[in-house]
Amino acid sequence: MRSSATSILRVAGLWSRDDSSDILASMALDVLSLLNKTGALLQGHFRLSSGLHSPNYVQCALLLQQPRNAKALGEALANRIKTMRGEKVVAPALGGLVIGYVVAEALDVPMVFTERKDGEMTLRRGFRIAQGERVVIVEDVVTTGKSTRETAKVIASHGGLVFGFASILNRSGKANPFDAPYESLLEMALETWEESDCPLCRSGVEIHSPGSRYSAKSA
Ligand SMILES: [Zn+2]
Repeated sequence: MRSSATSILRVAGLWSRDDSSDILASMALDVLSLLNKTGALLQGHFRLSSGLHSPNYVQCALLLQQPRNAKALGEALANRIKTMRGEKVVAPALGGLVIGYVVAEALDVPMVFTERKDGEMTLRRGFRIAQGERVVIVEDVVTTGKSTRETAKVIASHGGLVFGFASILNRSGKANPFDAPYESLLEMALETWEESDCPLCRSGVEIHSPGSRYSAKSA
C-alpha cells in the first residue's frame, strides 16, 4: 500500500517536471502562461472573424490539443459556472467543441453543438433542446460574441432557456457582453483596426485569416 502511494506521487512528479506544456506543474491554472507555452498566442497580422485586423490571434485549438490541459481548463470553467445550473452545454462549432465537451464532462451533463449551414447557425444531427431546458453556452474565445449570440437564438427558438455563457478567453473588452451571467478564465484586451486604418496593411505585412467563420465564407 505504501509503495503504490509512493509510485502515484512519483508519476505525478514526472508529469509536472517533464512536460513543458503541462499546467499541472504549477498546480494552479495560469491560462496566460499556458497560452504562451502551447504556442497558442500568435503574433503577426490577422483578419478576425469580425473582419477586423489585429496584430495577434489566439489559436485555442493549440491550447486545447493536449487532452490533459483541455480537461483542466474544462474543470476550471465548470467550477465557475456550476451555479448557473445548466442541464446541457451547447457549444458553437468549431471553436466551442473541445472546451464545450470537457466542461460538460466536468459538470456531468450532455453537450450538443450548433453549426453553420449556408451561413445560418443551426442545431442539426438529431440534437434536441427540450422545452424549458436550462442551457449554458460554452465557447473558446468571445470577441464580438456574434456566434455565441446566434447560438443563444437557436436555443431560444427550440424553447430552451439560456442560463449563462462561458468561455476560456474574454476578448470582448467588456465584463459581460451578454444578457445573462457570463464567466471566463482570462480577460485579454484585443487590439483591432478596421482594414482601412490598419498599419500592418499599410506596411504590406502578409495577412492570415485563422477564424473559422471567415474561412468558411472565403472557402
Ligand atoms: Zn491589416
